Amino acid sequence: DVTLSLSNLKKAYNHGKPNEVQVLHGVSLDVGKGEVVALVAPSGAGKSTLLHIAGLLDTPDTGTVAIGGEDLTTLGDRKRTAVRRNDVGFIYQFHHLLPEFSALENIMLPQLANGIAQGVAETHAMELLARVGVDSRAQHRPAALSGGEQQRVAFCRALANKPKLLLADEPTGNLDPATSDRVFDALMELVRASGLSALIATHNLDLAARMDRTVRLEAGLIA
Ligand code: ADP
Ligand code: ADP
Repeated sequence: DVTLSLSNLKKAYNHGKPNEVQVLHGVSLDVGKGEVVALVAPSGAGKSTLLHIAGLLDTPDTGTVAIGGEDLTTLGDRKRTAVRRNDVGFIYQFHHLLPEFSALENIMLPQLANGIAQGVAETHAMELLARVGVDSRAQHRPAALSGGEQQRVAFCRALANKPKLLLADEPTGNLDPATSDRVFDALMELVRASGLSALIATHNLDLAARMDRTVRLEAGLIA
């Protein structure tokens, strides 16, 4: 049972110009249901490009992206947006929480946008916060939280709409090593508790070793 299937992805930037750069040379990669895969790549190897294509934020030149067995490569923009909202959760190095809303509200908003009732959204948001140990900070705005707490809230927001797939780009990369370690454990617990499939980019080989499998992206190919 495969959640994410990337097949022979190719991507270049600046097509036909002198500065054309081929970033992905034919990347194939499957993430199984409930599997957590580490994506390790040197800087410039095409990691962000790959994650953006997998999350339907960008399109490949050729190749296919399937989530939950459905080929999404040729879907129209509206359907791609719907899949992105419902089936994919994103986490970045920086939390990108909305500064004028509380931690709780930041996790409720994506649910409300999907038509979930206020009370249901709030209960679910509090459950997620409790699982990462930040429920006592629910009413605080992001600026009042520590870096580690901000990332934990961002994890909860990414999972708020119960996606099938989590895509993360250096999810603890802006934290000091000791904090990064603990915050990464919280992320793994959250992912395991929800049975989610995940592709998590990291430079940290210790963190990669805590996942199910590591794939290396080198010069635009899975090594
Ligand atoms: P990584 O995340 O592994 O550092 P990226 O996917 O961001 O790599 O970028 C891979 C290569 O593609 C880099 O050489 C980068 O400069 C180039 N690149 C990325 N985005 C663009 C873009 N929008 N236009 C032109 N070149 C780009
Ligand atoms: P962490 O281990 O999560 O990074 P810190 O050691 O940075 O935590 O912070 C410890 C405590 O101080 C946390 O409960 C956090 O909410 C609080 N805290 C950190 N920064 C601020 C701030 N700017 N305003 C209010 N409280 C803060």
